[in-house]
Amino acid sequence: MFVTPHGVLGSLIFEGVDRLSGNRRKLGQVLYWLVTMPVAFASHFLLDRIPHYDFIITYPSLAQGIVRVIIDILICWCILVGFTSNQSLVINIRDAKMFLAAFVAASPDIITHLNKLLNVPYTSGFVAFHDSIHTHIKVGPVIGWSTQVLVVLLCFWALTMLRKNKG
Ligand SMILES: [Zn+2]
Repeated sequence: MFVTPHGVLGSLIFEGVDRLSGNRRKLGQVLYWLVTMPVAFASHFLLDRIPHYDFIITYPSLAQGIVRVIIDILICWCILVGFTSNQSLVINIRDAKMFLAAFVAASPDIITHLNKLLNVPYTSGFVAFHDSIHTHIKVGPVIGWSTQVLVVLLCFWALTMLRKNKG
């Protein structure tokens, strides 16, 4: 999947787990590192099971592939900025944790791209694992984009609900 659905789901996981700790800061820290981070990482593989359409980063050219990835990251960033606690350019710790959860949720694709483009050592086993878990159902762009837009909309709705209930 693209960066955006992974990132938005990672943020939703952060928001959901963060609520469990209420105002207890220490519990919040423990839950963040022991629950949010692993679950955000694992969520990547769950989303990749859903049939979707992926770009090939080197097709038709690497430059175009990189531009598409940058646009994808910017879309994700714009959505997440809407869910930050202080709506200014200064990011606080809580917002940084939300962005980190989004990054971790998308990170398997980053590792895979680094392996394929730069041949980064010690990543081949992970890439093989990522590929094996990835859906093998091939769908065209229309269905493949729709499933991703649906994931983003559902996460957006859930994030909005969580934020609204927070008061
Ligand atoms: Zn992936």
